[in-house]
Amino acid sequence: MATVLDIAKHNPNAATLAVSDAARVAGFVEKKAELNVVAGAAPGGASLIGLTRDQLKDSLAAIGVPERDLKMRVAQLWHWIYFRGAKDFAEMTNVGKELRARLAAAYTLSRPQVVSEQVSKDGTRKWLIRMASTGPLDKGAEIECVYIPEVDRGTLCVSSQVGCTLTCSFCHTGTQRLVRNLTSAEIVAQLIVARDSIGDWPHATPPDGAQEKGLLPSDGSRFVSNIVFMGMGEPLYNTDNVIAAIDVMSDGEGLTLSRRRITVSTSGVVPQMERLGSEANTMLAISLHAVRDELRDDLVPINRKYDIGQLLDACRAYPGLSNARRITFEYVMLKGVNDSDADARQLVRLLKGIPAKINLIPFNPWPGSKYECSDWERIERFSEIVFRAGYASPVRTPRGRDILAACGQLKSETEKLRARARMMAEQGIGAEGVYAVGNGE
Ligand code: SAH
Ligand code: SF4
Repeated sequence: MATVLDIAKHNPNAATLAVSDAARVAGFVEKKAELNVVAGAAPGGASLIGLTRDQLKDSLAAIGVPERDLKMRVAQLWHWIYFRGAKDFAEMTNVGKELRARLAAAYTLSRPQVVSEQVSKDGTRKWLIRMASTGPLDKGAEIECVYIPEVDRGTLCVSSQVGCTLTCSFCHTGTQRLVRNLTSAEIVAQLIVARDSIGDWPHATPPDGAQEKGLLPSDGSRFVSNIVFMGMGEPLYNTDNVIAAIDVMSDGEGLTLSRRRITVSTSGVVPQMERLGSEANTMLAISLHAVRDELRDDLVPINRKYDIGQLLDACRAYPGLSNARRITFEYVMLKGVNDSDADARQLVRLLKGIPAKINLIPFNPWPGSKYECSDWERIERFSEIVFRAGYASPVRTPRGRDILAACGQLKSETEKLRARARMMAEQGIGAEGVYAVGNGE
């Protein structure tokens, strides 16, 4: 039988944070990620949950499934794991007993642990999810994931990193000190956890009162119909894993989410945008938030690296862009900072020629934040100017504010691991460690 380490080798599932990207920009307001992580290498067997087809294939090969059977076996496992939501190899009735036993000896179907679930009075749910431990000293990185039920859709807001190396001044996640990339499996696992929790599998039972709480979609579609990469982290600093996760989530024989219902939000990692469009073919959202470089340098510091002009050029070149596939520009409304009539008019001028939607986000406060949300009349006035210029300009209703689940409010306690990460680095346990963030210290 393969050992756990063999399995990890065949099925590395590894995170690959673009450490150099952060390090390249000397004096830049980005935090630095220091250590790498291999998830799923913890004692007790690696979980197959969230793996890509290729990773599943490698995992099967590692326990001796012959080459000629691999394709068929992957298809079987894929169906059980991603279509049916199987939690136990014993459920897989069309897989022979002997192979099921071998699978169970080497692997698990365990999900990351749900540490807490909070349900807002508006039906929004927030899960604090602890990822599998990566080594004896790591209790597992924690991330947050939010489910927002609406009448015509159910949107899952997923995280792409633990924390974020960027430091947008209005965002709670940006204050988190410890950062690492999530693996593609860890990203997919958020969808699995959500579907477990709301009973969104064939033959599963939805939670009590789902109808009254608006959890059941009126059109008979699945509960989770849309995914937005708007949780913790900058998705385009983790592009490989984000694209791999999108491939799994949108696979027609498994989780079957339409790519047109998946939106990746970026603060403006210009060099990765073309790749996202051509390889993942998803919808794009841009966190613009300011129309002058001087202000955007302050609010969204990655602007010092890629300014507004470069960002909008990359938007114009986004593959698949058309009136039917518009880019969403997110604009957080900060009182007295970026919310004047002149700002609104400049916004309209800047976006000329780009098929766009403008999403105005009332600022969501968090403990210690230095901004205030613009007054409602100001937001309406801003929205009107944008609307008159011919742009849809919906104001995003804050959801789940009472449980700190709204945009920009997510932050986990994972920074507590930092001291351990350092200790592990000193002991040379780099490969199994977690990212520690220097933050200029
Ligand atoms: N890192 C990515 C995706 C996650 S943030 C990005 O920045 O695009 C999702 C959205 O929430 C972004 O537009 C972000 O700028 C916005 N946001 C962050 N903090 C916020 C806050 N406190 N109130 C309202 N929106 C916020
Ligand atoms: Fe990171 Fe996005 Fe928050 Fe900026 S707004 S700190 S990029 S998560």
